[in-house]
Amino acid sequence: MTAQFYDHLSEALENLNHQGLYKTERPIISPQGNRVRIAANRLRPGGVVNLCANNYLGLADHPKIIAAAKKGLDQYGYGMASVRFICGTQDIHQQLEKRLANFLGKDDAILFAACFDANSGLFEPLLGPDDAIVSDSLNHASIIDGIRLCKAKRYRYQSADMTDLEQQLQTVRTNGARTIMIATDGVFSMDGYLAKLPEITRLARRYDALVMVDDCHATGFMGPRGAGTPSHFDVNVDILTGTLGKALGGAIGGYIAGPQAVVDTLRQKARPYLFSNSLPPMVVTAALTALDIVETGDALRSQLFENARYWRDGLTQLGFDLRLGEHPIVPVMLGEAKLAQQMAAHLFELGVYVSGFFYPVVPKGQARIRTQMSAGLNQGDLDFALNAFEKAGKQAGVLS
Ligand SMILES: *Cc1c(COP(=O)(O)O)cnc(C)c1O
Repeated sequence: MTAQFYDHLSEALENLNHQGLYKTERPIISPQGNRVRIAANRLRPGGVVNLCANNYLGLADHPKIIAAAKKGLDQYGYGMASVRFICGTQDIHQQLEKRLANFLGKDDAILFAACFDANSGLFEPLLGPDDAIVSDSLNHASIIDGIRLCKAKRYRYQSADMTDLEQQLQTVRTNGARTIMIATDGVFSMDGYLAKLPEITRLARRYDALVMVDDCHATGFMGPRGAGTPSHFDVNVDILTGTLGKALGGAIGGYIAGPQAVVDTLRQKARPYLFSNSLPPMVVTAALTALDIVETGDALRSQLFENARYWRDGLTQLGFDLRLGEHPIVPVMLGEAKLAQQMAAHLFELGVYVSGFFYPVVPKGQARIRTQMSAGLNQGDLDFALNAFEKAGKQAGVLS
């Protein structure tokens, strides 16, 4: 019986491998940063230029963040060994929640172990069988899981298709619902496209719906002061979820920010909050410092967007086909999965770390290498990477 079970798993894994879908992990032996050293890559002691981290502001190895984490470790200890409501709340946890709420213009905020937990715990306490959730078809897996765990009726609209969103809202109205919530990523990370929040919020007003935005790929750098996609579009949404694991330091942690009644309800009822450990103090003190950095200046944001412009211009001049946009996610469109895989491997040999994405993560025939800019990259890194892209593109026959 058990032997059969393990055989079955091995077979499924082999199948994945055959289809080229088996994911492997490369051990990095340096801090996360603009250049990272890879265990198996002794030929490049200086490391490879890293274009695939969500380290948008370069805070993952920032001296101020490291100092803040050390201070947190010394002053508040290593771990909490408790959930928040038993003995896992320190003053810094509450400070961070207040700071996030202020930063995002919301009444209050609540911390989770990760944004995955925030999204999977968000819907079930707030909505029941009489309610409806209308969700973008390309939403993050954690939103999809969160909606599955909730008893509200589910409706899905084709990603970014506002006609379809309105149709779904009309269907909800016909079927009846006490509360309607529209759920969307703020940024769709495979393309770097922003959710159409002006239209979404307009439709929400027309159909009396709440709007929930997962702003993981935006908080800290999109919009004035880095407050995310709603502030980028100058619109108001009801509930924001986000991560401390990307621009805001890159460690771990998630949050939900919104109206007081929502946050209070989640604190009483959200299962990933109630039944999971409190964030480590050093992560909390470092996140407070990340917010200081984000709120007190535009230097890193300017650098990030300057890098993004330089990188987009460089790739365009070389003749690559890019997804257009303004986000620091810059996808290089290649078409076939094999091509994306081979080119990513060649780029790695040339000293540039990128990741290929292909079906089923993106539609068939739309394989790509997704590059991501960071404020931590300098012009030398970008010129080096452009040079490598030119070589790899020519060898692959993508560039003439
Ligand atoms: C990264 C990401 C998450 C998960 O965040 P974690 O804090 O790493 O769990 C959720 N939603 C979106 C849109 C993301 O990009």
